[in-house]
Amino acid sequence: FNSPEVPQKQKENIEIVVNSNLSIEEKVDKILMQLTLEEKVGQMTQITLDVITKGESVFVSDEPLELDKKLLEEAIKKYKIGSVLNTANNRARTPEKWNEIITQIQKVAMKEIGVPVLYGVDAIHGTTYTAGATFFPQQIGMAATWNPELNRQGSAVTAYETRASSIPWDFSPVLDMGRNPAWPRIWETYGEDVYLTSQMGIAAIDGYEGKDNDLSDPTKVAACIKHFIGYGSERSGKDRTPSYLPEIELREHYLPSYKAAIDAGAHTIMINSGIINGVPVHASYEMLTKLLKEELGFEGLVVTDWADIENLHNRDKVAVSHKEAVKQSINAGIDMSMVPYNFDFAPYLIELVNEGEVPMSRIDDAVKRILKVKMELGLFEKPAPKKGDYPKFGSKEHEQIAYNAASESITLLKNDKGVLPLSKDSKILVTGPNANSMRTLNGGWTYSWQGEKTEEFAQDYNTILESVQNEFGKDNVKFASGVEYKHDGLYHEEQNIDIDAAVKAADGVDVILLCLGENTYTETPGNLHDLYISQNQRKLAEALAKTGKPVVLVLNEGRPRLISQFEGDMSAVVHTYLPGNFGGDALADILSGDVNPSGKLPYSYPMYPNSLGTYDHKPSEASEKMEGMYDYNSSLPFQYPFGFGLSYTSYQYSDIKISSASILPNADFTVSVTVKNTGKVEGKEVVQLYTKDLYASITPDNKRLRRFEKITLKPGESKVVTFELNGKDLAFIGADNKKIVEAGDFRLMIGDQSTEFKVSESVSF
Ligand code: BGC
Repeated sequence: FNSPEVPQKQKENIEIVVNSNLSIEEKVDKILMQLTLEEKVGQMTQITLDVITKGESVFVSDEPLELDKKLLEEAIKKYKIGSVLNTANNRARTPEKWNEIITQIQKVAMKEIGVPVLYGVDAIHGTTYTAGATFFPQQIGMAATWNPELNRQGSAVTAYETRASSIPWDFSPVLDMGRNPAWPRIWETYGEDVYLTSQMGIAAIDGYEGKDNDLSDPTKVAACIKHFIGYGSERSGKDRTPSYLPEIELREHYLPSYKAAIDAGAHTIMINSGIINGVPVHASYEMLTKLLKEELGFEGLVVTDWADIENLHNRDKVAVSHKEAVKQSINAGIDMSMVPYNFDFAPYLIELVNEGEVPMSRIDDAVKRILKVKMELGLFEKPAPKKGDYPKFGSKEHEQIAYNAASESITLLKNDKGVLPLSKDSKILVTGPNANSMRTLNGGWTYSWQGEKTEEFAQDYNTILESVQNEFGKDNVKFASGVEYKHDGLYHEEQNIDIDAAVKAADGVDVILLCLGENTYTETPGNLHDLYISQNQRKLAEALAKTGKPVVLVLNEGRPRLISQFEGDMSAVVHTYLPGNFGGDALADILSGDVNPSGKLPYSYPMYPNSLGTYDHKPSEASEKMEGMYDYNSSLPFQYPFGFGLSYTSYQYSDIKISSASILPNADFTVSVTVKNTGKVEGKEVVQLYTKDLYASITPDNKRLRRFEKITLKPGESKVVTFELNGKDLAFIGADNKKIVEAGDFRLMIGDQSTEFKVSESVSF
């Protein structure tokens, strides 16, 4: 590896360009001219912080490891690396510590290359690796709020706190589709519907990057939408296993969320680790260059996922060597490689350029995209901000937004005979493995990758048990875990099973709060063999139901674990998802009625493992029985449907109005409805508009969500909600994989959930 000393002149020239009045594009062009091939390829290399810290490996030490100056200098002097990610030894650090680390890295980068390093982390529901940061519900919970504005606010807080940690790049949001509950990353998504996902994604980009995507604002980060494309469509549901996804489905149900985020100006994108129709996405010119860069017009930076260039050789077997893998992926359209340990990427790429196997124009295109993001972030001028510039870090104001999001996400799925809300003097048994754990409230990517360090860092916040004690009085609340998760073991291991103790503890209480679900996991370690909730937990539920006391089931989980075996014995069911550090407080306020629940399911909650599906399935899978036909068990019975969620009040829908009964494919039209709060308490209602194409040239989806709005109504109050649409909103991907709007009859349906429509009207072209 040839590593000449950087001439003083180069750095001076870069400085002159940075301080000039040229446009960002012109500056980038001029800086590119100053860089050698080694430096360009270095810009395309991203390593993990572990590589340049003292100590042996990621998970061995619990002490925050220090930077190793020798390794840092080697990485930058020898390999000219342009980007670093994540934390070292999988641990959170204070913002001050982050500032120290990043300042040291930038000092060496500026001295040796004159180009700052782009630092990135997975701040996916708060600033993952920063102690004291504000943690929000995970994406699946944010989707359950059906309130994009809250998602925008939460993302803005995360941007601020990530920048307060001197980190300008965030690998978020996930815009993959959560259409298969067996996939272990469904909690990182906004659920199964691509319209809801798109709206949430746009709001996240807005919060991270700001209204005009002006990254020079030091409270904003560059967003990284991920993982393009089709991630989550794995046939087996197991993470990173092959997927077979026809283009028609990819375009109908997977692409629109990426298109929406790219149109909203997202600066960077990460690629799907998986293989679609036999082709690893990282090696696909069709998907990375033709679809992403040309068709969608994406002008930002394309980064690989973890070691995914090497994986083309080691795992996916489409490249006979690592070097061949580098050639395939860079030529396919990758701009930056998350190597993140193996430095061979750079020397191989240099060889390939010198051999004429990778054109210099491809390298220049990639480096320009990288330099542009660095320039827009203002990193050349201010590689790491000064400490103390961020007074709102971890503030009450930020925490209030996290609480609001948690309380709007929690979804009431069943409430027989109005068992909820509970009166404040109720005597309550709190039980179950999720009852007294900060870890399970937060899920993965919290203070560490698998969330396993949460108990240590989240001591100032309340578990469900602590919040219920605060809300109902310590003397009124008993606790017996019944089942516990193993702290150090794999997420699904359970211990200390003592169902009898829990049943005994139910003596003398009015109600049982049974907190079930899962322990935390992230990515492939979360693969499952069985979607049913664990046997121990089911037995606990059945034994407690036999006491005859009302059981309120709390589901603290990131995917819908099946409960059909005992759901009928539960008096109430509340789904918290992974609500973050304020999830316990928000839940207690909902249980007592201080807060009226308003969350709605962002996925279909299945009833049986062989009946997984989405609400927008084809009519032949419909759960509505066709008249005069045998059922043959072909239908999809859902435990609870997509869009569903109860309230402590009731709403009446009336007066649906369409501006014109006959509309044109390109014409705007409006649909309005009057919604009235007919109950006794104030509530927030999500008004949802679905359309149904009655007949089409290909079998149409059963129904599709087209618009929604969350409104607040006082008792007795009514509001008119008006949705603006265009004929194009009724388009679908036709048999030739192109979008078409077809003449015909449609039904427009407005309701508070997706299977029971309160009011509906027909419209036709
Ligand atoms: C995950 C990405 C993440 C990256 C960096 C990968 O394993 O798939 O979502 O951004 O690691 O931590």
